[in-house]
Parts: sequence; C-alpha cells; structure tokens
Amino acid sequence: MKELVNRIIKWYQKNQRMLPWREDKDPYHVWISEIMLQQTRIEAVLSYYKRFMKEIPTIYDLASIDDEKLMKLWEGLGYYNRARNLKKAALFIVDNYHGQFPSTYEEILLLPGIGEYTASAISSICFSLPEVTVDGNVLRVYTRLFEDSCNIDKEKEKGRIRQKLMEIVPKNSGDFNQGLMELGETICVPNGIPKCDCCPLKEFCLSRRHQTSLQYPVRSQKKEKKLEHFTVFLFEIHHKIFIEKRMEEGLLKGLWQFPNFNQKMTKEDVIEYCKYKNIPFKSIEKGISYTHVFTHKKWMMDSYIIEIKEEKNDFLGVFVTEEDFKQNYSFPGAFQPFKNDWIQRKGEKG
Ligand code: SF4
Repeated sequence: MKELVNRIIKWYQKNQRMLPWREDKDPYHVWISEIMLQQTRIEAVLSYYKRFMKEIPTIYDLASIDDEKLMKLWEGLGYYNRARNLKKAALFIVDNYHGQFPSTYEEILLLPGIGEYTASAISSICFSLPEVTVDGNVLRVYTRLFEDSCNIDKEKEKGRIRQKLMEIVPKNSGDFNQGLMELGETICVPNGIPKCDCCPLKEFCLSRRHQTSLQYPVRSQKKEKKLEHFTVFLFEIHHKIFIEKRMEEGLLKGLWQFPNFNQKMTKEDVIEYCKYKNIPFKSIEKGISYTHVFTHKKWMMDSYIIEIKEEKNDFLGVFVTEEDFKQNYSFPGAFQPFKNDWIQRKGEKG
C-alpha cells in the first residue's frame, strides 16, 4: 500500500495540470474552485474562476458583494444556490474568524454549502490534514484497482471506501487526494477505455490484470428524468424585450427569465391568452424550441415572439436592451437560447 500511495503522489507531482487555483494553497482560492467544479468540467470553470477572482479577490469582498452582481458572475454555471452559499459562508467567516478561513476539518464542514467532500479537499490541500476526498473519479480508480463490485451510488459503500482510504492517507494528503482524482479524470477515464499503459498503478491493478476494467464501477440504474413542457413568451417592442424575476423559492429562484407557462401551447392558445390578458400585440410568431436538462428533470420549451404595440406598465418586470442583458441581469441556462435567438434576430433586422 505504501508503494501505491508513493506512486500516486510522484505521478501527481510530475503530471499535474497547471490550474490557476493550484498556484498557491490559499484556502479561498481552493474553496471557490472546488465549489465551481461541482457538476462542472475544469475547462468550463477556468474563465469563470479568473473573472470571479478579478471581481471578488478576497473573503471580505465576497461577504459584501451585491447579490445581483454575484448572480451575474455565476451566470451559466448553474446550481445558483452554490453562489448564494458562498456569500453566506464568507459572511460567517468575517463574523466569526475575522476573515481568516478556518483551519480544522470540523470548522470548515460547518460553513454553509460545504459538505464532507469539499471540507476534505480544503483540509488536505491547504492544511495537510489527514482527510480523503471521495468523488466519482476516486471511486472509479478504487473499484477498478481492487475489482470492488460494490454499488458506488450507495452512501454506505462510499463510506466504506472512504474508511479504507483513511487507513492509507499519507502526510502529504493534498497531493495524494488530488493525484487520485486527477488520475481518474485523465487516465482511468469514465467514458471509453482507460489508458492503463500510462497509469502509475498498472502493476497493482486487478481489473487491468483480468481485463475487467469496464465492468467497474457498478452503479444503480439511472432514473428517467421527469418531462415538463413550457411555453415561453418573448414580448418585444423596438429594441427591447420583456423579462421578469423568478420567485424567491424553488428551482432557479430569484433569477431573471422570460415569462412562461407550464404547459404546451399552440399559436391560437397564445393569441387567446394575449387577448384575455389585454396585451396589445401587433404580431405573434412561433420562435425556437429548446430542451433544457436539469439533474432530475427535463424542460421541453417552445417559444412565441409577440411584438407588442406599447410597453404596458402593469407588466411585473422590465423591458431591457441587449446591453442591459450584458451588464445586469443573470439569466439561467434554460432561457439563454431564447435570449441568444432574440439578439441574433434583432441583429439581422438591423
Ligand atoms: S491500470 Fe487502468 S484500470 Fe487500473 S487504475 Fe490504472 S487506468 Fe484504471
């Protein structure tokens, strides 16, 4: 086991990718990167991380950031609660630790939005505490190495593997954890054949020896995602379009969106709806359709472009220009294609 641990660390020290949050072991940097990386690939996070650090370079800046600005910086990353929790945690650190990031696993785990995995990552990378990070990459490497056929979707099994790794975690826990994760991401890959010839653990790996790597890890069957239909209304006038704020609860809470109805509608339905609501429209055309996939559900969205005659002031929202979109309003991914389509059509019309 000692040799196996050494190989992971040496391989990581030689092969690690140069990433901006690895330039130092500042817990603020590691924390922000770890939260951004949840459910998101490194390539996608890079530009967000750089922009975030430029705008919010310290914990104090994060604690005092305007909510709308924070959401705008997070726009497109999804899972917006992660950003809200960052601010809550920053306020907690300023109030309770004079702005210094706490340095024990237990204290880190108490911060809003930080679970076992992130607390372990920060504790080991920044403070060399003997904690292990167990994510999908680590579980894949581990189950292939030992031909462990447990179901990795079961919390009990994850906990057991965590315990096993805790028995071998070395002093240099940060490099060990990052090495295992990076090995899973770049060599013992999730999709396709693992690159066993380049793997520092190849001599130890049972699944390589028995050519069974693709049988691991074992997972539960995925549940079908729930399908929901939406009709999106693009009320436009001159060079402006109408947007409204979502309610402060539920999915995508507090973000901006185009008004929409939770059902599929025909053009005739939309005409009827506008008449019923006394919306003075000039024309109604069918716009683009788009399907947005969330973790547990899929939204199938159709849109209608409704050119209106005047800006009604009983509309609960605002009419915005393309420039306003860029500067101020945080739009979730589900509505981005409709926004992009509107901008493109506007450009074509001139
Ligand atoms: S030898 Fe192959 S299957 Fe085994 S851990 Fe390395 S990459 Fe994965």
